[in-house]
Amino acid sequence: MSNGFVPVPAVIDEIIVETPTIKTFVLKPAEPIPFRAGQFVQLEVPGLGEAPFTPSSSPFETDTMEITILKTGLVTNRLHELEAGERLGIRGPFGKGYPIPKLDGQTVLVIGGGVGLAPLRSLLYHLFGEPDCCDRVTIKYGARNPAEMCFKRQHEGWSARQGVDFTPTIDRPAEGWDGHVGLVTTLLDDLDLDRSKTYAVSCGPEVMLRFVTWKLLDVGFPPDRIYLSMNRNMSCGMGICGRCNVGPYYLCKDGPDMCYADIQDIPYALG
Ligand SMILES: Cc1cc2nc3c(=O)[nH]c(=O)nc-3n(C[C@H](O)[C@H](O)[C@H](O)COP(=O)(O)OP(=O)(O)OC[C@H]3O[C@@H](n4cnc5c(N)ncnc54)[C@H](O)[C@@H]3O)c2cc1C
Repeated sequence: MSNGFVPVPAVIDEIIVETPTIKTFVLKPAEPIPFRAGQFVQLEVPGLGEAPFTPSSSPFETDTMEITILKTGLVTNRLHELEAGERLGIRGPFGKGYPIPKLDGQTVLVIGGGVGLAPLRSLLYHLFGEPDCCDRVTIKYGARNPAEMCFKRQHEGWSARQGVDFTPTIDRPAEGWDGHVGLVTTLLDDLDLDRSKTYAVSCGPEVMLRFVTWKLLDVGFPPDRIYLSMNRNMSCGMGICGRCNVGPYYLCKDGPDMCYADIQDIPYALG
């Protein structure tokens, strides 16, 4: 069992190409790694280094773990070169994860941008796996263009579920796309949701989270009903190294999903 310091060895069982820049790695750890939706792990590429990622798979499935990764730099470029059968290490899980008990009997507004839909997919698996836990799920998802949409093969199934609606959008018009066009914030203009019975949970690039949060406040969401994934530089994962602190919080320990009410008075908390 991982003690937080020593990685659990894992084999890459399968690699799913999601988009030209995003791949999902299906990992088989040497021992089950239980996690809650929204908790993150440090994924180690032996001999190179490690980087934090939030599993995109179901928290009810512990024999395998799926991690969906955008190619962006040293570690992620190398990960994208790997093949099935190669070995990685997993430290964790770390952090608190999504505020699942609070979602009981509520509507959940899930807002994702780009690869930010990956951690949220784990939340969706949780909500769909416990159908009585929340009342309704509304998903708003933005990507740069149709090719960069993550988990396309699952969108239809999500839309077809009772009590679930899914609206994707792309930033600019594209040939063959007849859906919504505009940043994901434009999908928040006409929400038919009771603000006093809805929790909004968002994950995406920092700039998106800032504008989504402001928009949610604008359209009447109280700060204590807005959660956002603050995926800042994290290293130790245990609140020791201090690389991810925001005011009195260590995002690796107290987050990465933070309630806006807790951070709204901290200067530059949203970057
Ligand atoms: C809690 C947490 C969960 C995350 N979950 C996921 C996930 O599920 N899927 C995913 O693709 N990514 C996720 N990220 C982001 C991921 O950790 C970074 O993309 C990764 O660390 C980059 O490492 P690198 O060595 O490839 O890039 P580097 O060579 O270190 O940097 C390359 C570029 O990536 C940027 N970058 C570095 N770290 C981050 C970061 N934390 N967030 C955004 N940009 C960064 C740098 O500014 C630089 O422009 C998560 C981050 C955190 C903190």
